[in-house]
Amino acid sequence: MPAAIIDGVAAAQRLRSDIAAAVSDRPAGLRPPGLAVVLVGADPARQVYVRSKGIATRKAGMVSVERHLPATTSQVELIDLVRSLNADPEIDGILVQMPLPKHISPLEVILAIDPAKDVDGLHPTNIGLLALGEPGHVACTPRGCMMLIRRQIERLDGLNAVVIGRSSLVGKPLAQLLLAANCTVTTAHSKTRDLAALCREADILVAAVGVPGMVRGDFIKPGAIVIDVGINRVTDADGATRLVGDVMFDEALTVAGAVTPVPGGVGPMTIACLLDNTLAAYRRRMGV
Ligand code: NAP
Repeated sequence: MPAAIIDGVAAAQRLRSDIAAAVSDRPAGLRPPGLAVVLVGADPARQVYVRSKGIATRKAGMVSVERHLPATTSQVELIDLVRSLNADPEIDGILVQMPLPKHISPLEVILAIDPAKDVDGLHPTNIGLLALGEPGHVACTPRGCMMLIRRQIERLDGLNAVVIGRSSLVGKPLAQLLLAANCTVTTAHSKTRDLAALCREADILVAAVGVPGMVRGDFIKPGAIVIDVGINRVTDADGATRLVGDVMFDEALTVAGAVTPVPGGVGPMTIACLLDNTLAAYRRRMGV
């Protein structure tokens, strides 16, 4: 039987409807949640991301503040903007679109964000809270992955999970979330030996690598849940470009129990979780 295809578009739509309903049902007289997204530079792909985040924010009934700064913006100027957003009583969440131009330290900028408004979950305070198993903002993509996993299987106790990739944005926080859900977790990376054999032990296999199709069918334990975080643009022989994941999807379909497609899997959950984190930040700040 071919694997089930995990529909991230539908899951994200449901989450976004729930968020919109919660925003609309807020106590009378309370302002709506506000999310500020800051983009430095004019990279067209990142402009599209920021625009789509703004559209999703407004659709959820929240206020979207988009700040586009020139690529020549200094680190001091960017941090000043972040501090003014920290102080803005109408802003609950702040996201600075990464990567930043080379002359700006991403860590210094992240450190400047109020952890209570760090809806991207990148501030060391939130990363530390996650490691301690305490409530805080968790990075959006790993949260989205966990929601998709939980839709397939509610109790994860004792399952073997392998996460390929150890970035601070995806691999490490996802490994922490799986550990908190009582999985036995292995984090693999570019120096891991015999990756295919390691992956074949996984009941839950996550690929967050950025190498198109590197996870082949023979990496997958029969019946496993496979979450493909990778987003890679490849060019076909005819010059057309398309998006593919880190997993060879057709091969995964013949072995896995369930697999996320690319596009239409993890990607849509990321923006939905950004809105969910913003709603959570709003509720904490407003005491509702
Ligand atoms: P990253 O920071 O470049 O990290 C990639 C990780 O993969 C590193 O830990 C690296 O190992 C590991 N790796 C590279 N080649 C490998 C190999 N041959 N075998 C095993 N491990 C290998 O990337 P990222 O930010 O985590 O993103 C990963 C992918 O997810 C990208 O395609 C990105 O576009 C996508 N992404 C998608 C979403 C979404 O919303 N769906 C969000 C974020 C990212 P080392 O640490 O040893 O170098």
